Amino acid sequence: MNEILSGKVKTVYDVPGEADKVLIKFHDKVTAWNGKRVEFPEEKGKVCCLISAVLFEKLEKLGIRTHFLGTEGFDALLCRKLTIIPVEVIVRNIAAGSIVKTTTLIEGTLIQPPIVEYFLKDDAKDDPLLTYDRVRLMGIDPAPMKERALEINYHLQSLFTLMGIDLVDFKLEFGYDVHGDLYLADEMSPDNMRLWKRGTKERFDKDLFRKDEGDIVKAYKYILENLRRFA
Ligand code: C5P
Repeated sequence: MNEILSGKVKTVYDVPGEADKVLIKFHDKVTAWNGKRVEFPEEKGKVCCLISAVLFEKLEKLGIRTHFLGTEGFDALLCRKLTIIPVEVIVRNIAAGSIVKTTTLIEGTLIQPPIVEYFLKDDAKDDPLLTYDRVRLMGIDPAPMKERALEINYHLQSLFTLMGIDLVDFKLEFGYDVHGDLYLADEMSPDNMRLWKRGTKERFDKDLFRKDEGDIVKAYKYILENLRRFA
């Protein structure tokens, strides 16, 4: 299989004979601070892949178009080939992370209604914060991504609430297929979202690694087990 793209923790391959599909393989690897910190926790790839599969499947059932077509083994997703939009879309329900560093908001502040933010997907430029108008200037219409992101937030919040988890924030990526239809892409795992035990700041996400506070695989497995019960 031909490698199309090698990301920090995933590799994207062509699928022989199927020009409209790709295979996304998840590695036992976690990085932070734009790749400056790296570890290789056993089973991490598999757990992120399986969490993504459960969430994509759930969203598809709820009418959200995603690139997910199926799983291949335990650590790879078969997906629609898309042209990925170079914008990371972030939804925030509770203040944490960069919004606390760059505004007057205090960690844990409820953000109601939720907000949507846009960051440039460019590691070389350190993924800077964009504005809605800057996204438009880049020739990308942010409106459909914003609408879809808020719908996804509604569905994910409902699901995590059943699990006793607060969905603090998460990152999405979108892409277009050859017909110009918008699809949710990338992965959906605790690598890309903040998940706190309801009403507390006990984490089940990548901040455990960023802050060196515990075993991410154990926390991610807890999320996977609960998703299998409630999704
Ligand atoms: O760092 P920040 O607070 O802006 O991150 C918001 C959310 O987006 C977090 O859940 C984080 O894990 C996720 N994120 C991501 N990839 C990035 C930046 C942020 O998954 N490049």
